[in-house]
Amino acid sequence: AGANDLLDVRSDFPVLQQPMNGKRLAFLDSAASAQKPQVVIDAERACYEQYYANIHRGVYQLSQRSTQAYENVRGIVQRFLNAPDEREVVFVRGATEGVNLVAQSFVRPRLSPGDEILITEMEHHANIVPWQMIAEATGAELVVAPILDDGRLDMEAFRARVSERTKFISVVHISNTLGTVNPVEDIIAIARDKAIPVMVDGAQSAPHMPVDIQSLGADFYTFSAHKTYGPSGAGVLWGKLEHLEAMPPYQGGGDMIRTVSFEKTEYAPPPAKFEAGTPNIAGVIGLGRGLEYMMEIGRERISAHEQALLHYASDRLKTIDGLRIIGTAPGKAAVISFVLEGAHPHDVGTILDMDGVAVRVGHHCTQPLMERFGVPATVRASFGVYNDFEDVEALVSGLKRVKEFLA
Ligand code: PMP
Repeated sequence: AGANDLLDVRSDFPVLQQPMNGKRLAFLDSAASAQKPQVVIDAERACYEQYYANIHRGVYQLSQRSTQAYENVRGIVQRFLNAPDEREVVFVRGATEGVNLVAQSFVRPRLSPGDEILITEMEHHANIVPWQMIAEATGAELVVAPILDDGRLDMEAFRARVSERTKFISVVHISNTLGTVNPVEDIIAIARDKAIPVMVDGAQSAPHMPVDIQSLGADFYTFSAHKTYGPSGAGVLWGKLEHLEAMPPYQGGGDMIRTVSFEKTEYAPPPAKFEAGTPNIAGVIGLGRGLEYMMEIGRERISAHEQALLHYASDRLKTIDGLRIIGTAPGKAAVISFVLEGAHPHDVGTILDMDGVAVRVGHHCTQPLMERFGVPATVRASFGVYNDFEDVEALVSGLKRVKEFLA
């Protein structure tokens, strides 16, 4: 990977055009949330300016247009994931809601005391807490597969934790803290042998690599629009149709029913069954435009661009004494967590900000992982389509300044 792999799309993002503390803004926090291209902003704005109304059942023009624009996004998501059927696309608030929906509607009713849910040591809190909640409520147990020192999943240990008691497996596709890309195909092959359903937390894979849900073979996959260059408050839960048909609804309300009486309610078929209430209409439309934006560029190219930045940044960071990168798994994604000897991550982040360099500091919603590596927090630089070598240079010279400051 080299300069030829680089994209040049920074000018698509209005927010990046402003100076930050008098410097060129180096935004290195896409793992937390990505910035929005003009086309996404325009799509949401067009919805409100030209055709906004509540969706479904409206007989008037505006409602029909907004219904069509909203429903059209299911086909875009279907294409984005190569999903077999657009009825498998459920709109949610984000990955967090996607996991909670599956935990409450699909997994919880299947659990008895002594049953097990298997996750990994590198999960985001969003893929830990919902399972803990249903384990506590049912007497089931949460089992955690450990990771190796370089941030790879310990596959041997993982395999050893799969048993007759394992009722569900949920794993992160790409770690938001380490950048590790998990071998989910292998995990799913192990699960399939024992007929265990698998959920993949795609919050970090949907934005950064091509995802083909059919070759992946998962039962559920979820991601958030705000990381795929779309708005916050919108996201996708994809689930196999047979599961979605069999599952009880997650929430009750309008728009998810066929008929309601005080004696009995009949639910609408999926996906409507899982979309109670007025949804985030403009947000879903923006979600669709964000995915189209990614498909227009091409996810192979996005991935190659980010890999080029990752390799360049990793080499440049090696020139800084006392800097330790946490998470060095082969084939990792463009997320670099590190600690700097003698400097608290929060001080590093604050000093970098003075140079217009935006990084995240803290536990990144992965406290057990911080524990695993014996650090309270890390500095994390993460990359997106709009980053370039100049951003990396700003980070490196900022870190040199941090060292002078704190020496
Ligand atoms: N899983 C992972 C791996 C994530 O990085 C995130 C977001 N940081 C989530 C789940 C939760 O996503 P959201 O907050 O958008 O619901």
